[in-house]
Amino acid sequence: MLEILNESSNPELSRKLLAKVMNLANLYKDKYGRLPAIMEVCGSHTMALARTGIKKSLKDHVKLISGPGCPVCVTDQKSIDAMIQLAEGENRIICTFGDMIRVPGTKRSLMEAKTEGREIRVVYSPVDAVEIAKKHSDKEVVFLGIGFETTIPVLTVALKMADDEGITNFSMWLTTKLVEPIIRHLLESEVVKIDGFLLPGHVSIVLGKNSYQYLVDEYQMPGVISGFESVEMLSSIYKLLQLLLQEKAEIINDHRSIVTDKGNQVAQKLMETYLTLSDEAWRGIGIIKNSGLDLREEYAHLNAKKRFNMTVGEPRKTACRCGEIIRGIITPEECSLFNKACTPLHPIGPCMVSSEGTCAAHYQYMREE
Ligand code: SF4
Repeated sequence: MLEILNESSNPELSRKLLAKVMNLANLYKDKYGRLPAIMEVCGSHTMALARTGIKKSLKDHVKLISGPGCPVCVTDQKSIDAMIQLAEGENRIICTFGDMIRVPGTKRSLMEAKTEGREIRVVYSPVDAVEIAKKHSDKEVVFLGIGFETTIPVLTVALKMADDEGITNFSMWLTTKLVEPIIRHLLESEVVKIDGFLLPGHVSIVLGKNSYQYLVDEYQMPGVISGFESVEMLSSIYKLLQLLLQEKAEIINDHRSIVTDKGNQVAQKLMETYLTLSDEAWRGIGIIKNSGLDLREEYAHLNAKKRFNMTVGEPRKTACRCGEIIRGIITPEECSLFNKACTPLHPIGPCMVSSEGTCAAHYQYMREE
């Protein structure tokens, strides 16, 4: 597995760091009689840890638990059903990010609806959807806006653009998620033992280091903000293990070149201007109070939920265990469908569809042949 670390921009340093992490993890195991349990909050870390071989290399030393930070994986079926229902109306164009198109809804996916002739387009940015609305003023253009704090500012840029330019045929179906409420939910529900958090560098650019202080003050929980290169992730895991061994609850910013204490205040202001806290449904978990952001009342004209006044039924129960996967309760191998009925070619749940999904990461990089 060490060969995989050759993909690193600095393979020699990666290997040295890996050995140091293993040594420290062994000290932890000697002291506490079990492996340290570290949750990587975001899907980008899940994929990067799997791709670089770090997860597999450390499996007997550190319990790296994949968390709930893959936006596609946590989006509830209802939102996908709503998009399909919207696409069935006359003169509509539905725009979405790439991964969402293959996620199964209650009866079918957006891809299947597209095959049936519905106008559903994959865009790289919500701003592209605003451009489509400008070109097709005779059609209603709806963007399915998912994401955590990394993506939400980009969504608000598109909302601002549509609002400033008075584009009346554009709206968003927002189903955004926030990092803090789901971390609190995990810690308070105690469904999984967590000793510390590997915190996402990109979300932290927006939120800032200080936004995690509640972990220390209220939960006595350490965390390290990390980048996504193998050297960066190993360095952060090492620092987290040091904190755990010293029994120190502290937040370390290990991504100092781009993460500041207060975060990106321009992005925060933009979010505050257009959005307000909302109760959000998390796939497999249910509604968590104030766990997302939706449009403020004064921007109701940009809110697809209000504009189209739709009611969407209850999601269908399936054997997919993504709800447990995103909370780190089980690993993909513990789902009976993994690598049998459920593969990237025939995904049953979003964790196998998403490029940041835990099941997809295990299938691609950690599967035993
Ligand atoms: Fe869902 Fe497939 Fe993952 Fe099982 S393997 S939890 S069915 S996505």
